[in-house]
Parts: sequence; C-alpha cells; structure tokens
Amino acid sequence: MNTPIDSPLILLLSVLVLALAGLALVSYRRRERDHRSFRQELEAREQQLRLALWASGELYWQYDMRTQHLERIRIVADADNDLAVRLDQDRDTQIHPDDLPRVLDALRAHLRDDTAMLQTELRFRGEGDDWAWMRAHGRTIQRDADGRATLVAGTARNIDALRELEGQNEIAIEVMRNMAESVCVLDSDFMFVAVNLAFSRMSGYEEQEVIGKDASLLNGRQHEPEFHAAAREAMRSQDHWTGEMWQRRKDGVDFLCAMQCTTIEDPQTHQRRYVIVASDITERRRLEHELRFLANFDPLTNLPNRAQLSDRLERAITQARQCDARIGLLFLDLDNFKDVNDTLGHAIGDRVLRAAARRLLEAVGPEHTVARIGGDEFTILLENINTVEDADRYAQRIIEAFETPLLPDERYEFTISPSVGISLFPDHAQTASDLLKHADTAMYQAKATGKRTFVRYAEAMDNDIRQRANLITALRRVLERDELQLVYQPQVNLRNGRIGSVEALLRWNSPEFGLILPGQFIPLAEESGLIVPIGEWVLAEACRTLAAWRRAGIDPRLVMAINVSALQLLRSDLAGSVQRALVGNDLPASVLELELTESVLMSNAELARERLRAFRRMGISIAVDDFGTGYSSLAYLHRLPINTLKIDKAFIDGLASNEDSEDTTITTTIIAMARTLGLQVVAEGVETPEQLAFLEQHACDLAQGFWISRPLPAEACLRFLRGDPVPAPVDIGPLDPDPTPA
Ligand code: C2E
Ligand code: MG
Ligand code: MG
Repeated sequence: MNTPIDSPLILLLSVLVLALAGLALVSYRRRERDHRSFRQELEAREQQLRLALWASGELYWQYDMRTQHLERIRIVADADNDLAVRLDQDRDTQIHPDDLPRVLDALRAHLRDDTAMLQTELRFRGEGDDWAWMRAHGRTIQRDADGRATLVAGTARNIDALRELEGQNEIAIEVMRNMAESVCVLDSDFMFVAVNLAFSRMSGYEEQEVIGKDASLLNGRQHEPEFHAAAREAMRSQDHWTGEMWQRRKDGVDFLCAMQCTTIEDPQTHQRRYVIVASDITERRRLEHELRFLANFDPLTNLPNRAQLSDRLERAITQARQCDARIGLLFLDLDNFKDVNDTLGHAIGDRVLRAAARRLLEAVGPEHTVARIGGDEFTILLENINTVEDADRYAQRIIEAFETPLLPDERYEFTISPSVGISLFPDHAQTASDLLKHADTAMYQAKATGKRTFVRYAEAMDNDIRQRANLITALRRVLERDELQLVYQPQVNLRNGRIGSVEALLRWNSPEFGLILPGQFIPLAEESGLIVPIGEWVLAEACRTLAAWRRAGIDPRLVMAINVSALQLLRSDLAGSVQRALVGNDLPASVLELELTESVLMSNAELARERLRAFRRMGISIAVDDFGTGYSSLAYLHRLPINTLKIDKAFIDGLASNEDSEDTTITTTIIAMARTLGLQVVAEGVETPEQLAFLEQHACDLAQGFWISRPLPAEACLRFLRGDPVPAPVDIGPLDPDPTPA
C-alpha cells in the first residue's frame, strides 16, 4: 500500500540511482573509448616502430647482464607485406671468436661509463652457419638498486655489403695508386681531385701541389689554346674520349701523352668527374719516327733510300702516264770507290759519300729526287723532262760537277769521278723496277767504256749482263772440268841478260766461250770468291812446273812470280797453300815471288803488313804489281816488307817515243827512288827495243814484255829458258791472241 510520505523519496532515490547509473555508464563508456583509442595509438606507434625498424634494416637487441641472454627482434615482411616481429633468443654467444675480445672491450668501456654509447663491429652467426658482419650501437637501459647495469639494448645492422664495397674501394684506390699509367681525377671544372703516384712521376708534380688546381697547369706550349679548349669540350660532351696531347712537366720539359678520359658521376655528390688515364708516349713516338725515317731514308746521307725511291718512281710513272710526260732515271756509281774505302778506311769513305750526296743535290737541284740505294750507288729521278737529251745533259752536268774536288772535311780535298747510266720512261721501260734495272745496266756499260762517263740504256746491253751471269756459272766449274791453264812470261835481267824470273799468268780455255783472258774473269772470280780455290790451283800448278823445269836442268835461281788477289791474302790461308805447294814440290822459298797490287796492300794495311812479314820470314819475295796506278806513295810502301816494284805498262808505253814525256820523268823517278829504298825494279809491258834501251840506260833491274817474250805455255817457256828457238806465235797464238792491252 502506498504511503504518501514515502513515495516522493523513493522517486528521488530512483532518479538518483538512475542518474548515477547513467553517469557510471557514461564514464565507463568514456574510459572504454579512451582505452580503445590509447590502444589504437599504441598499436599505431608500434606499427610505426616496426616500420621504422624494418625500413632502416636495423634489428633491435637487448642483453640481460644477469642471465646473459641476448634477445634480438627483427621485423620481417611476409608474403602479403604484413610486418611481423621475429624474436631470437640465444644463450651461447654467437659472436665470432676473433671479434669477441673487441666486443667485450667495448662493452666494458661502456659499462665503466668511458663511452656514452656502445659501438662495435662484429661478425655474428646469422641464419645457416654463415657469419654476417654487423655494426651495433647501444647503451645501458636498466640498472639495479646499486646502479649496476642489468640490461643493455640497442640496434644493429648487417654491413656485409658495405664492408665488401669498402673492401672494393680500398682495392680500387690501391690499384689506382700503383698503376703504371698516370691517373688523375678532375672535377667538372677540370680541377684536380685526385692523382696517383705515376702521375707524379710523369709530371713531376706531387699530389698536394696539384689538388684543387686547374688541369691547364700541365698544358704544353706545343698546342694552340684552341686545341685545349676543343679537347675539354669533347670531354664534356662525350662519356669517353681518347686523344694525344703534349703536356709540360714541372721542370718545363714537354712530353707527349696518350690520354683516355672517362666521365663518371660521383655517387655521393652526383657531380661529374673526369678520370684521365695517361701514358707518356714521347719515346715511343720518337722511335716510330726514327723507324719511319730509317725505312725510307739513308741515315748516312739523309737521302731517300731504295724503298723511298721506288715509291717516288712509281708515283712519277703514274703521273707521267696520265700527262704523257717523260721521266729520266740516272744510276750513278762512284769510280773505284772500293779503293777509297780500302785505302783510306771506312770513316773517310763515309765522309766522301756524304760529300758526294751534297754535290749531287747541288748539281740536279731540289726539284729532282736524289737517292742513295746502297754503297756508292746513287739514283737521280728526273721528272718532267722533255727530251732524251735532257737526261744526257743532267748526266753531263753531274760528271762535270765532280771535276771540282769534294770536300769530305776542312782538311783535305778529294777527287772522285762518277759513272752514270740512264734509262727513260716510256722509251726504255714501263715499270719502276725495269727502269732501275736498265739504268743499272747502262751504268755498268759506262764503267766498261772507261768510267767518268755516262751511257744511255740500249737493249743490246742486256746481252752483256746475261753473258756475265753465264761466265760466272761456267767459272764455278773450271777446276773440276780442268779448263784452266798457266802461261809463263819471262823477265830479263838487264844487267846480265839472263832470265831472272817468269810470271805465271792464267788462261781459261772454255769450251763454250773460247779463250778468256784474266782481265775478263779474274774480277768475276774475285766477286764470287772463286778466286781462292783458283788461286790455290795456280800456286800448285806453277810450283809443279817450276819443279819440272828444275829437274830438266834450268838455272835453280829462276824465280816464279805468282799473282795474288786481296781475298787470297786477307781472307784465306795463303801461307798454308804456299807452304804446301813448296814442300809438295821440294822447292826452296827463295824461288817464289808473290805479286800484289797497291790496292791489295793498302786495303786493310795492318793485316796485309802482318801477313807479308810472315812470308818474308819464310824467305818469299813480295812484288808490288802495276805500281803507279793506285793511291799509294813510295814512302808508305817502303814501310811494307816488299822487295820489288813492277812499274805499270802505262808508264812504259810513253818511254823512248819522246824523251821529255811525263812518263819518262815518272819512270826515271820511280827507278831512282826504288834504288835508294833498296827495291828491285821491273818494267812491265816492254814492247819495243827503244823502251828496252831506255830502261837499260836508266839502270832498271828487270824487263818484261812482248819484246822479250809473250807469255808462253810451260813447254815453250822451258825451251825459251834453255835458249832453244821458240817456234814463233803458232804455239802461243791461241793462248795469247794479239798484243792485248794488260
Ligand atoms: P799483270 O800481273 O800486270 O800481268 C801482266 C799482264 O800484261 C799480262 O796480262 C800480260 O799478258 C800482259 N803483258 C805482258 N807484256 C805485255 C806487253 O808487252 N804488251 C801488252 N799489251 N801486254 C803485256 P794478262 O795475262 O792478261 O793478265 C792480266 C792481269 O790478270 C795480270 O796483270 C794480273 O793482274 C791478273 N792475273 C793473271 N793471272 C793471275 C793469277 O793467276 N791470279 C791473279 N790473282 N791474277 C792474275
Ligand atoms: Mg803481275
Ligand atoms: Mg802488272
């Protein structure tokens, strides 16, 4: 039942309860909401943290000092890119034993408060069994009541890749430092950023002297400024540039550089860098030039050589063909140049060649090519000449130019004459090699016609050349085919009229070519070296004949004179052959006389003297043949161990015909001088009784010549020696046809 007093109270209470309940609900709701939003915020923070950890590639670690537990938290992304936390816990330390002491040192230092932060690099055993390099940072995050650290925590990251990169960088830097090529790095304004040791070696600048300076520091003065500007522009516009550039060393010496420039981008600053690798090619270039010069020019005279001449000749022919022009080729050889070399030595010979080259250049003028193609052989290429006679005129001009003595050096003058052969395009040949060959042939002809002259090529000349080649071929077989023969020419002693000696002279009876005189084949035998075996045969044959004559009862004092070539004296065992010939025929050395020409004695004078002394010691006489035709002086010859002078026929020819002739003076002078030097004198080529009388009158010792006797075969000579009548020319006719000039 309702009481009126209670009902409003109850109502009020009810309202209050309701209000409180409402309030509680609201506050709960609010708390609930706050809580939720806090949790959400926390989750969001955690997610951010995870993200940060994941993105940074770091892992979180903490180390419990008391339990020695190491906890590591890593964030891994799953297939859906959701980030999950991975917790690893290790009890045993997984730090590389080599790194552990260092890590512990760092930890102790941190715990001692020596370092505010623990920092270390270490190898940690990761997944699998591999060691991974880690860089760790951390600090104490919890201490106990006594202030002792209980928990250390921090982050760590894998630095394998970084360390590899750093390793590679170090290697790269080391390689660059030690490269043999100079390396420099320039910035985008061409300022030095880095250089290596080779750069310093090459340029003379130390690293600190160039860093920050403009690379133009090294610009050589060999280039115009535009050249350097263009090179920079090329480097700027291309990723790669190569070129050559003269650079100047610190000491001012220029050097040539082969450069390779590569453009790179600085990984940090993204600025352009030029890496220039350079090598000094100055020496290489000089050698190349030298080789090119040597390949094309003669280093002695600086004239074009054979190769260069061929090139120019080919070009000239092509041009001449196009415009119907004519080319002349002169082939020039200095007369008796070999004697110059032999008698005066190679140093003087070289000077004579240089002087001859200068003389030729003066004579033909700069519009024509003068080339030296070997030894004393020169060629002159005359371009654009009109007539055949034009070439003749040049040849004549050259011969006249050589009439004025050459000046090999300031001290003395030297006269030498040239022989010139001429060939013409298109008259004689169409190709360079044929033109050269024909000019050469013509030159030989000029020599044969008496030197100091020029001859134009003619087809018939080729036959002579062929003949020469055929002769040499046949000459190789003369000994085996027994085609050689000796004839003997007596020399009369003018004091007692007795035959004092005979000279052995070679004859070649060739079935193909008939009788060939020594003047024709001895030079070929000398050139081919065949003179050595032939000379040996002569020695043996002459000694054999003399021994036979002695057995037949001729005067045992009779001397056998034998001609000897340079090659035999200087390059063969002549002493051995002589010894064998004497011993084999039981002859004393005193019956032998060796005849040598002046040029043989003067070539290699030292060796000649030494060899001759040995012969003199053996008791063999030495005669100088053809005296008066060479360069030697009597005074010089006297220093050689010689016994006899044979005055050349050329002087005897002029005797008696005219008492005042030059030959008369020369002959009487030679006789008088030889007498004072204690030498015996023989006159060669005596052909008339007047000559003989003159010689007798001037106290010449011996005479040899057709007037006394022609060269005779052994049998006939023996009869002559015995004083038996020699059946006139019939016997000797084929062996010594007609009075041939010696
Ligand atoms: P040579 O030694 O001066 O010999 C003298 C030459 O003059 C010989 O010529 C001889 O026949 C020639 N003759 C001699 N008297 C007269 C004369 O009155 N009038 C003329 N017109 N000529 C005369 P040949 O035999 O033709 O020899 C020429 C040269 O060949 C020799 O000159 C000598 O240098 C060389 N010779 C000859 N035989 C030999 C040899 O066995 N060995 C070497 N290495 N050379 C030799
Ligand atoms: Mg002789
Ligand atoms: Mg002679």
